[in-house]
Amino acid sequence: MTAIENGKPSWDDVHPYTVVRVLAARARGMVGRLRWLVPRRDTRKLAASERHFRSLIENALDTITVIEADGTIRYESPSVERVLGFRPEELLGRNVFEYVHPQDRPRVLQEFERLLTEPGRVQSMELRFRHISGTWRMMEVIGRNLLADPAVGGVVVNARDITERKAAEAQLLYDAFHDKLTGLPNRALFMDRLAQSMRRSRRDGHPRFAVLFLDADRFKLVNDSLGHSAGDRLLVQLAVRLEEAIRPGDTVARLGGDEFTILLEGITSLRAAERVAERIYQQLEAPFDLDGQEVFATVSIGVAAGHSRYEKPEELLRDADLAMYRAKSLGRARHEVFDRALHERALSALRTETELRHALQRGLMRLHYQPIVELRTGELKGFEALVRWRHPTRGLLHPGEFLPAAEESGLIVPLGWWVLEHALREVCRWREENGPDCPFVTVNLSARQFAQPELVHKVAEVMRRTETPGRLLKLELTESTVMDRPEEGAWTLGRLRELGIGLCIDDFGTGYSSLGYLHQFPVDTLKVDRSFVARLHREGPDSALVRTVVRLGRDLGLDVIAEGIETEEQHEALRSLGCGYGQGFHFSKPVPPRLARKMVRIGRSW
Ligand code: C2E
Ligand code: MG
Ligand code: MG
Repeated sequence: MTAIENGKPSWDDVHPYTVVRVLAARARGMVGRLRWLVPRRDTRKLAASERHFRSLIENALDTITVIEADGTIRYESPSVERVLGFRPEELLGRNVFEYVHPQDRPRVLQEFERLLTEPGRVQSMELRFRHISGTWRMMEVIGRNLLADPAVGGVVVNARDITERKAAEAQLLYDAFHDKLTGLPNRALFMDRLAQSMRRSRRDGHPRFAVLFLDADRFKLVNDSLGHSAGDRLLVQLAVRLEEAIRPGDTVARLGGDEFTILLEGITSLRAAERVAERIYQQLEAPFDLDGQEVFATVSIGVAAGHSRYEKPEELLRDADLAMYRAKSLGRARHEVFDRALHERALSALRTETELRHALQRGLMRLHYQPIVELRTGELKGFEALVRWRHPTRGLLHPGEFLPAAEESGLIVPLGWWVLEHALREVCRWREENGPDCPFVTVNLSARQFAQPELVHKVAEVMRRTETPGRLLKLELTESTVMDRPEEGAWTLGRLRELGIGLCIDDFGTGYSSLGYLHQFPVDTLKVDRSFVARLHREGPDSALVRTVVRLGRDLGLDVIAEGIETEEQHEALRSLGCGYGQGFHFSKPVPPRLARKMVRIGRSW
């Protein structure tokens, strides 16, 4: 039963073509024919439903058109005026294809031909239709061949304006593949283009493309000092300059943060890719203007050339990333080309990580202790705990051989806790054997460990467990560890101080080298880096630095420890400069716990 028959018309229940039939019939002045649609006894209901449908049609968003086999318009619903601006009577008798966009016309005619081949056939398509203003509207059209239907005798076309929807879809598509901030292609689009290049090169056998992986140097500094919106502006300007450095067929994309990638097409040699990197450095020579603030920006670039061994775009990107990482570690503002050796190094870092994980579990880590000597008296005052790895095949490994992998993987955190626990157990022994005046121990703290929110709590717990008083423990941190997050850093240091722990800036002079920040942090010891001590015999800036640090230490009430003292002359020079403490091969190399214990017991001095 249709809605019309049960007398309760509702749009949902009515098939649109029923409506069309009604209207087409009206258009041809054959209203009388409608009578067979409803029971004759209820003509009042018929009038009501007719009014109802007329109103629906007139107010419909869709337009309904009835055309003849040659395209002549025979009926047009009133809604056409709202949609296309034409009054229905302006269109009657015209050929509908006149209004179709010339580019769409051949396709539309073809579809229409097909529609005519079979009575009842339905065909849908999208096409551009002319608005009275001369602009084009995108229409979604459904045609139905009712030529053979005596009630209609035409092709009924239902059309809907989808211009806005199409625009929104296009915008969505654009957004899905572009970075909002810079308008550059994003990772998804970049990977897609890279995959295309790889497919192309597989087809013709010659990889002719390269990928540059760029990372802005010290971008965080701009963000932290000038604010995020300045950082954003810098990224936008950077994007513009990168685009200026490449050719039209190439792709610059923003991967996120301060990372960009460039796909170079038609590149036949690595040298050519390197030339682009050089061009980028030239582009970045001029300062950036961030609302009156002049800022210089540099990037580190990793280069990876297309090669048949790559199967997936991700592999190429990973290698370019690896090369970029190396460029960073070699001093930034430079580029590095990916080669097999780099890949080997990455693999071996991965192996080291896995082995180190096992070593930690199996108790293969060791601590050695290097004496810290009071220079004036020659007395043993403390030890620095330095971690070692008893590797089953490679022997006793020094931190330089495994700490980078530990940092990278995050293993540095559990390793750091292992070190603290064992160093404090050792102090506990010294104390048991020699009384409360025994030497202190210093423990190096990595940036990752320092950034742990529960750091203070856990340190306190280890101290409680090993019954270590704060004065027997010093923590060593580098300047960059503290300066990474100055506010949180100062807070954490303050809490550690409250536990009575000594705090020491390690490798002083190699990092920020800014003395200005020192008073903000509750540290009590500076460790002059051994590179300055090594060059102490020469007159010049290094000796001046040591002198300045010693004086600064005195002024601020800080202890100064000179690292890496290897000769009697250095020892003598430091003592005469008034440097309080020293450490180095001249006194002793780091020694195993047994020997350290003996030094404490006999009260070793120098
Ligand atoms: P550092 O904290 O600056 O430690 C001093 C390094 O200098 C030690 O190297 C030590 O053996 C070496 N050294 C001492 N005296 C001399 C000398 O007279 N001449 C020379 N050329 N070198 C000397 P090591 O043990 O290889 O440690 C290297 C770095 O590894 C340490 O530098 C420290 O940053 C890190 N490290 C060591 N143990 C740990 C640890 O348990 N945790 C963390 N996070 N880092 C550690
Ligand atoms: Mg140290
Ligand atoms: Mg050091």
